[in-house]
Amino acid sequence: FETAEAGCNALVTGSSGFAGARLVEMLLERGAKTVIAFDIVTPDAVLQERFKDVQKKTGGKIITLSQTEGDLCSDAAVDAAFQKVPKLDVVFHIAALVGPFHKEKLYWDVNYHGTLRIIDGCKKYKVNKLVYSSSPSTRFTGGDVEGLSEDEMPIPDKFVALYAETKAKGEKAVSQACSDTLLTVSVAPHQLYGPYDTLFLPKLLEAAGSGKLRIFGKGQNKISLCHIDNYCVGLLCGADSLYRGSPTLSNFYVVTDDGPQYF
Ligand code: NAD
Repeated sequence: FETAEAGCNALVTGSSGFAGARLVEMLLERGAKTVIAFDIVTPDAVLQERFKDVQKKTGGKIITLSQTEGDLCSDAAVDAAFQKVPKLDVVFHIAALVGPFHKEKLYWDVNYHGTLRIIDGCKKYKVNKLVYSSSPSTRFTGGDVEGLSEDEMPIPDKFVALYAETKAKGEKAVSQACSDTLLTVSVAPHQLYGPYDTLFLPKLLEAAGSGKLRIFGKGQNKISLCHIDNYCVGLLCGADSLYRGSPTLSNFYVVTDDGPQYF
């Protein structure tokens, strides 16, 4: 990963979440100089320990922001984050409001307007590379997607959930912001799992253990999964692919463990 090997300065939003935290570690493991860890949730004791360990092993530096300093809904906080180092080489915009249970306004504030703030920050502070964490749900309309490639799944007019809609609008804005000076790409995982997963696998096992697991259809539907490390490598490859004339510019890619078979 050349950008990091060269000793890059990176901003990672969503750095206390499942994907963002692992990405912060991986950036340092691959030689990043400084990572600004931007999240509305400050790292808990376990994550603080992980960040401490990786800094000790690599000599890289993580600048962790406080709750008010790490809020995507605040113009001032986002603007200040871009100024924590003299020059940022790359921004990974991973933060999002996920899951189905939030208020409508909050989905728009975080997933769409928060993304616009990040794009504005990149433009204002002349950051050349922006990698956006999107979601396959931005393309999902309820049908079978087995065998389809990203090109064959355009963003629909109607969405199955507000999360998907607001993530799709954020992704469109990132794609449209791609220019000679700001190079962008969107990279999405399908169902993350791996170390420090507090959601998917624990909840699945809990539901299965208590007999509450809902099975759709005859139980033969297939989905792809994505190990957390595979996804973070995908995000790093995304950043690496950002150069003038690159075929990935402004595009959307899905990362899975099992290649281009189905989302
Ligand atoms: P996560 O919930 O673990 O992490 C998201 C982080 O965003 C959290 O730490 C949260 O505090 C932060 N955040 C929320 N609102 C914020 C705000 N206002 N300001 C700053 N930070 C805020 O989710 P994750 O599983 O790590 O997902 C990471 C990304 O990947 C998201 O963009 C999500 O849409 C995408 N994604 C994840 C999956 C999956 O399987 N986990 C699947 C598809 C797409």
